Amino acid sequence: MSGKLFIIGFGPGSVKHFTERAKEAIRESDCIIGYKTYIELVRDLIGEKEVISTGMSEEVTRAIKAVKLAEQGRKVGVISSGDAGVYGMAGLVYEVLVERGWTEKDGVEMEVIPGISAINSCASLLGAPIMHDACTISLSDHLTPWHIIEKRLEAAAKADFVLALYNPKSGKRTRQIVEAQKILLKYRSRETPVGLVKSAYRERQKVVITTLGDMLEHEIGMLTTVIIGNSTSFRYENKIITPRGYQRKYTLRKEEQPLKPHERLRKENEPWALHGGKEENDAPLDLANEALSKVKNGKSTVPIVHHVQESILEFAVSPGLANKQFTPEQLKTLAEVVGEKGTMEYTPHHQIYVKIPTNNREKVTAPLKKVGLLLLPVGNVLTIKACDFCDGEKSDSIPYLNELYEHIGGMELPKELNIGFNGCGMACYGAVHEDIGIVYRKGKFDLFIGAKPVGRTAHPGQLVAEGIPPEQIVDVVSGIVHEYKEKGYPNERFFKFFKRVKEVQGFVYRDITPKIDVNPAPCGD
Ligand code: SAH
Repeated sequence: MSGKLFIIGFGPGSVKHFTERAKEAIRESDCIIGYKTYIELVRDLIGEKEVISTGMSEEVTRAIKAVKLAEQGRKVGVISSGDAGVYGMAGLVYEVLVERGWTEKDGVEMEVIPGISAINSCASLLGAPIMHDACTISLSDHLTPWHIIEKRLEAAAKADFVLALYNPKSGKRTRQIVEAQKILLKYRSRETPVGLVKSAYRERQKVVITTLGDMLEHEIGMLTTVIIGNSTSFRYENKIITPRGYQRKYTLRKEEQPLKPHERLRKENEPWALHGGKEENDAPLDLANEALSKVKNGKSTVPIVHHVQESILEFAVSPGLANKQFTPEQLKTLAEVVGEKGTMEYTPHHQIYVKIPTNNREKVTAPLKKVGLLLLPVGNVLTIKACDFCDGEKSDSIPYLNELYEHIGGMELPKELNIGFNGCGMACYGAVHEDIGIVYRKGKFDLFIGAKPVGRTAHPGQLVAEGIPPEQIVDVVSGIVHEYKEKGYPNERFFKFFKRVKEVQGFVYRDITPKIDVNPAPCGD
């Protein structure tokens, strides 16, 4: 008869927070092993079963005992508070098994049952302090050298993790929490919110909300978990809340409104993230707002959080559509507005891409507009790149450029789309290499579409029409762009879209990809 080991995380302490599987496992066990205090917490579930309880520092003894009993064919439930895999019994039992040459195939059966760890149970009592990247650090130096704990505290503090400190203090270990506070204060303000939760979901539960500066003035003990906020965590009522994101981003849109709260976290509004702006599920903020609005309608007294978080305004700046010359005054104003905290990046689109931390869009945009700068939205939008029309000599087509910009400039699209607009057949600003190329020649327009502007198989656009009368050009191009907006897949570049649908506004796709064998480019193509 082969035995079995259940390693049971029973959560913070109240039976209500046991998982169903944890209860079953206790029922299925014929013998329960655990630390005395914990045995008492689950006494009701154990009933008449054999119980082996030991003192606190006898975990190794418990692990060996459990393994031996299972090897004799017993079904042994090893109980561990919180989650058995977090400073719990799971690792110890595996270590004993490894020592004895255990194999999954021939050894006793193992089942580790997950439980709610203190980081989660304590956080729930404090509000929502974890939310973002967080780590657990145990301040117990019984099994871990203090210099390693110090290093981890230092690293976590520096990297702005929310911290959950386990085993913060005991009768004998009193200096560790003092040292930990010192390290944290090197990187975080004294006002950083801190939650002290003692005996979460147990009889003597106590919750204190304090600050990093004052936390040592309160009781901290063996049964306390100390949760330390990151630099964005804030206190509201008697809660600690860590926002989901560090900073909100918004850009200019046609109507020049900052994104509404529920729009800001949409993938299309985060083209700089790893997902590259691609939509999947998302919008946790949507859900949160929806939940809040429901509660509000139900006349609950739950306060709606009005925490003001600084946002980053992102947009592009250029001296004009056809104008390529900055004035000293414009550059000076731009530098002043961007300031120490903002950034400026020169892009391949004849634009300067700026990011400025601010919640006041007007304050940023008004001075720039005043000196004649053109402000353009960024992200998956339509950008028009025009030549300098040889400084005006070939400027007959400029009114059409302006009209086109009025119609569709800045429009949101499945993916960024560039229109090149050049004033003569030389197209020396490279219109034929843009997604859509418009070239003015002898009073009419030539139209190129579907260029592959990047990658090793880059190629110019296909010449789909010659001599389009000026009065038609805006409609023709708008038609193409609207069709792409409507039928393009999220994140699908225009040339891929054209290749897929084969025909746009009556213009038929021809494969003009260079027929050469190339290996993929190292950074993707
Ligand atoms: N396996 C456990 C952790 C054991 S280490 C888990 O996953 O939660 C023991 C430490 O856990 C304690 O010093 C305390 O910091 C924390 N802890 C465990 N249960 C707790 C509870 N109910 N309330 C507050 N802290 C708790």
